[in-house]
Order: sequence, then structure tokens, then C-alpha cells
Amino acid sequence: MKREIIIIGGGIVGLSCAYFLQKSGKQVTIIDENDITNSTSFGNAGLLSSFDKTPLSYPGVVLNTLKLMLKGQSPAIIHPTLDLKMYKWLLNFILSANEKRTKKTMMLFEKYGEISLKLYEKMVKEDSFDFDYHRTGMLSVFTEENSYNQKLKKYNYIDEERFKILNNNELKEYLPSATSKIKGAILFKKNAHFDSKRVMLELKRHLQEVGVEFILNEKIENIRVENNKVKHLVSSSKIYEAEQYIMSTGYQTLLASKCNRDLTMIPAKGYSITFEMPKEFIPKTSTIFNDLFIVMTPRRDNVRFTSKLEIGSSDTKVVLKQIESIKKNFFEYNQYFEMKNEELWCGFRPLTPNDIPLIGRDEEIKNLTYAMGLGWLGMTFAPAIGSIITDLVVNDKKNAQSDDILLFSGFFQ
Ligand SMILES: Cc1cc2nc3c(=O)[nH]c(=O)nc-3n(C[C@H](O)[C@H](O)[C@H](O)COP(=O)(O)OP(=O)(O)OC[C@H]3O[C@@H](n4cnc5c(N)ncnc54)[C@H](O)[C@@H]3O)c2cc1C
Repeated sequence: MKREIIIIGGGIVGLSCAYFLQKSGKQVTIIDENDITNSTSFGNAGLLSSFDKTPLSYPGVVLNTLKLMLKGQSPAIIHPTLDLKMYKWLLNFILSANEKRTKKTMMLFEKYGEISLKLYEKMVKEDSFDFDYHRTGMLSVFTEENSYNQKLKKYNYIDEERFKILNNNELKEYLPSATSKIKGAILFKKNAHFDSKRVMLELKRHLQEVGVEFILNEKIENIRVENNKVKHLVSSSKIYEAEQYIMSTGYQTLLASKCNRDLTMIPAKGYSITFEMPKEFIPKTSTIFNDLFIVMTPRRDNVRFTSKLEIGSSDTKVVLKQIESIKKNFFEYNQYFEMKNEELWCGFRPLTPNDIPLIGRDEEIKNLTYAMGLGWLGMTFAPAIGSIITDLVVNDKKNAQSDDILLFSGFFQ
């Protein structure tokens, strides 16, 4: 049986591609090695935070990270490995940490962030999705005098629609747990947040209802290519054939390497703690502790902390030492409270060195398209990526015929 489109990987990126392809009248099949209940797309912070946000590799990142390492508060952990890919990635990361690249990336974040938020809002309206979506801004909190002063220099003008520098009373109103150790806070008004698990389950339910086929607990182990086309996908017991294939396997690059694609992307492990918080301490909106790289997201029934950026580890288990370190860093600057009914989680960001995703058609294998490398902003950009990929596939475009691919794909930068 030959299918029309097969998407390998049902994280937020695969589901978003399926959503827009199905809307364009395509028959879509999603194959996932798990049951779509707990990938990276489930346990993340759920910030839709592409406004006023510097990329991970910004000028000064190496020095700032070293300083935090000395204070014992660095979110970044690098495990030495024999894998040369990681060192190549690190070199590219350091080379990307320049003013010109940062400005360009921030411009792209804003453009595709706005497209995505509009698409999420349209999805909620048209398909009545319950995403627990709130466009109430993101509070950026500074625990280091230096980084706060740097930020103030950048935001030394007035733009009430975009941001507000909070005084102490306003900070307490937004973040009731704040202590006087916090140096300052800026509310960035254009950002949003939602409950990622809810988003994933809602999308999966909707796609099932509208007839998208799900083949779950089926790992694709190989890809057979013939005459510059994918002929079929191979699992342990079956083969799957389609006219078009989309690869959205998150941080996993094994299948891409079977197609001779060496993707410059590494897994960066992160953690979340979801818990019930005393009501009087619940923050008014999503809050990022900039210097600690800790995010706190209020959700309908609980609050979630996320943090850490661990490179060179493929351990899929939650390491309790890291959980304790997140809590220790948080309570250094916040009043103590009891965290009830904790749910601990870890997952891997598919991180490219310059935060630009790897999207577009394979230049040699005609019927294969990549939707990969969304890094720490996959929830933010997924609808934009889904609609760009749909435009390519439905309109049978080449990469060069899509302005979005030329602008926003790491294959061209
Ligand atoms: C701690 C943390 C916090 C984060 N916070 C945010 C945030 O606030 N905002 C934001 O925008 N982003 C955030 N992110 C990033 C975001 O979660 C990711 O960018 C996004 O989830 C990636 O989605 P994906 O679909 O590419 O990958 P995944 O969600 O990993 O999905 C890939 C799927 O492919 C399947 N798969 C892989 N290989 C195969 C195979 N061979 N055969 C079949 N199936 C396969 C997997 O089972 C999986 O279901 C965060 C990430 C972490 C770790």
C-alpha cells in the first residue's frame, strides 16, 4: 500500500506539519517509535518567547558562562566525549556568538515568532483547541547586576506596547516569591505561554478525528533510497512506502545520516519539575530567571520549572543532583515554599549552533523533506515550520523557490 505523505516523528514539529498538510487536503500518516505521550515536546516550559530574546550564542556567552560556573550557578554542563561532532558544534557555536549574527537571528525570531503566535491563535479559534494559551507577556528577571545593567542600556527608551521595566512593587505583584536579592526585572509584553502537554494531546486528538493515520510504537530503522528518491522506510518487521516523506525525529539524527546528511545538531538535555505551588506565590505570567536559565511557567493546575543545558550526555534518566541544583539556584533568590506532588522529567533539545532550524528539501533525495533542529524554541516556531513545510510539499516547490526556507533554514546559513 503506497501512502501519500509519511511523517517520521510525532513531536510538536511532526504534528504541526500534519495539521497544515491535512488542512490542505493531503492524506497524512505519522509514524512514531513511541506512543506520543512523553517526547521533548511534552515536558518543556511552553514559552512562546521569540520577542526580545537573544539567541543562546550571543557575544559574551563564553565569559558569562564561565563566571556562572565559578559561582556554581551555571545552567550549562559539558560532558567531555570522544564524539568529534560535539567539538565541531561547539566551534560553530562560538563562531556564531557575534553582533551581526545575533541581530539577524533576533530579527528572524521576531518574524517567525509572530507568524507562529498568529497561527496558534487561529488554531484555537477555528478548531476550539484547549491549549491553556495566554499572551500575557514574559517576565525577565535578573540576578546579576552586570547583566541587568547591560539589558537596561539596550532598553533605554519607552515603548509601552513592547516592554516595561518594573519597580519593586510591580515585581512583587508579578513574582510574589521574589526576594531583595533580585537586581531587576523587565516585562516583555509580546510573548505568550501555554501548557505543552495539553497542546500535544489536543493536536493528537484532533488529527486522529480528522483522519490522520497514526502508526505508534514503530521505530523506523532504515531508509531505502533508489534513483534519488526514498523508495521505502524500514522498521523491524515492515516496510512503508509513500510519495513524500517528512523527517521530524527531534534530536535523533540516525535516519538523516542514513541519507548521507550530517546534520550540525546535538542533543542538549534539560529538566522540568511540575508541582503544585502555594497560591500566594504563583507568578502572574511566565518568568525567566535570565542569569540562572530557569523558567517558571504558571499552568491551569500547577506550575513548571525548567532548566539546564547539558551537552555530551545521552543518559535518558532524571539525575536528581540536577533537580536539586535547580531548586537551590531558584531559592537563592526566592522565598522558600513547599513544592507539592512533584513530577520530574528530562528531555533533549535538538540544538543547532546558531539557533536556526534545519528545514527544507534534501537537495538530492527528491521526495524527502527535513523539519529538524528547533532547539530550545520548537514549541514557539512549530506552526510556522508546519506551514512552511506544507507550502513546499503541496506546491511542489524547490528550496530556492521558498523565501522562508532561504531565510530561516540552517541549510542556507
Ligand atoms: C527543558 C526544556 C525546556 C524547553 N522549553 C521550551 C520553551 O519554553 N519554548 C519552546 O519553544 N521550546 C522549548 N523547548 C524546546 C522544545 O521542547 C523542542 O524544540 C521541541 O519539543 C522539539 O520538537 P520535535 O518535534 O522536533 O522533537 P520531539 O518532541 O523530540 O519529537 C520527535 C519524535 O520523533 C520520534 N522519533 C525519533 N526517531 C524516530 C524513529 N527512528 N522512528 C520513529 N519515530 C522516531 C520520537 O519518538 C519523538 O516522538 C524546551 C526543551 C527542553 C528540553
